[in-house]
Amino acid sequence: MKNVETALIHQGNHYNTTKAVATPIFQTSTYLADTDLSAYIEAATATKHPEFYHRHGNPTNSQVAELIAKLENTEDALVLATGMAAISTAILAIVKAGDHIIAQHAHYSGSTLFLKEFLRDYGVEITHVNQTDNNAFEAAIQPNTKLIYVETPSNPNLDITDLTFVGSLGKKHGITTMADNTFASPINQRPSEYGIDIVVHSATKYLGGHSDLTAGVVCGSKEYIERVWRRSLVLGASLSPFDSWLLLRGLKTLALRVRQINENALALAQWLEQSTFIKKISYTGLPTHPQYALARKQMQGFTGMLCIEINGENEAEEFLRAQTILSKLKLFINAASLGGVESLIVHPASMWGSHHSSSQKETSGITRGMLRISVGIEHIDDLIADFQQAFAQL
Ligand SMILES: *Cc1c(COP(=O)(O)O)cnc(C)c1O
Repeated sequence: MKNVETALIHQGNHYNTTKAVATPIFQTSTYLADTDLSAYIEAATATKHPEFYHRHGNPTNSQVAELIAKLENTEDALVLATGMAAISTAILAIVKAGDHIIAQHAHYSGSTLFLKEFLRDYGVEITHVNQTDNNAFEAAIQPNTKLIYVETPSNPNLDITDLTFVGSLGKKHGITTMADNTFASPINQRPSEYGIDIVVHSATKYLGGHSDLTAGVVCGSKEYIERVWRRSLVLGASLSPFDSWLLLRGLKTLALRVRQINENALALAQWLEQSTFIKKISYTGLPTHPQYALARKQMQGFTGMLCIEINGENEAEEFLRAQTILSKLKLFINAASLGGVESLIVHPASMWGSHHSSSQKETSGITRGMLRISVGIEHIDDLIADFQQAFAQL
């Protein structure tokens, strides 16, 4: 099975042992076991057994994991209840007290909290670097560095990390590398192809794609995924049978959705760039993006994520105008999250107000006039018309 579109429909179907064409929901916590006790012991100790007890595995979870591993070009994968469950369990399978992690200034807010507060309390050291500066990653390496953790494009500024550089840096120093590929999706970018060891996702976003589930996935070598699975057995964030089934169903149209989203976002970005109401626009698909050449090198599409800054006489006015636009837009829904079929918009400075200190906001580049957009699959003319009518009310 060579092509992604075909894999999305057929990969992992052997886990459906029924005659149903559509994979059933295995809504069960436990499974009838063999009365031969040596067979029972084997099932109880087997890695990711799909039919023993739900925390160990579930047929749909196995099917989805096999499909996503195929998409990310890794040996194996494990699905978990949320993106944060995937990220935290994946990192805890690598570091212990006394170890050091190199991470970026800009990460998803939950990941930043996990690194900065949770892991510090458990004796893990973190150095945060500017992701656009390759030398900064190299300079941060210590004898106890066990992990380089990156996210590209990053949230919300759409800065890019050079995956080839980080992948080879990790190999050179024997340090594990991990990338959060949520914003790109495997249709647009596959970090493993640039030497990154582990890929994590919030499957809540593009992979699920319909804003109706939460899920996460960790992709990597068979041996590493087994270690993550052992951690997940005790941490316990298993993906529920129903959410797993929704994820599988959503994935079938991933390639179609992401292609349409890429196309819509580029057209919207080009239109917004011309607008006199915009002070700055960040979109990886625009030649004005400072890392456009790198984006073209490592991404096959530029995603639906874009970030704009609204014009104004001063910061206070920019904030007010951003607020007005947010309230006047009719199609763009003011909601957290991203990657669904519907277009969403958020005001990052408000969303992360409670998580980030003002200095953190500054290093992650968040301003008060900023709006982050997740473009959906509506008709592009309607999306542009919506911004047009909102701008007309400023
Ligand atoms: C949403 C998100 C997460 C967290 O995922 P949840 O499913 O909400 O736990 C992690 N990383 C990125 C980039 C995200 O956008």
